[in-house]
Amino acid sequence: MIDDRVKIRCPKCTRIFSDRAQRVRDGYQVNCANCSRLLTLNRDSEDPFIRRALKTARETRAALEAVPVTTRMDMSVRSQ
Ligand SMILES: [Zn+2]
Repeated sequence: MIDDRVKIRCPKCTRIFSDRAQRVRDGYQVNCANCSRLLTLNRDSEDPFIRRALKTARETRAALEAVPVTTRMDMSVRSQ
């Protein structure tokens, strides 16, 4: 299984929360799950954690797209 959750570290409260890789991309805005601060995820952010989150999300999306949907369905049918 591919984990499609990406860890995001809030620059204000430094707490880590996660969001789906399909949603996390350059310019994505999300509220911190802990302090509700609105975060904007920019590729050129000075925060290395935000840059890493965007990179991880991109790699996760590529991994998910590498597995055709039909193949996944075939596998689940066979295992039942
Ligand atoms: Zn926060």
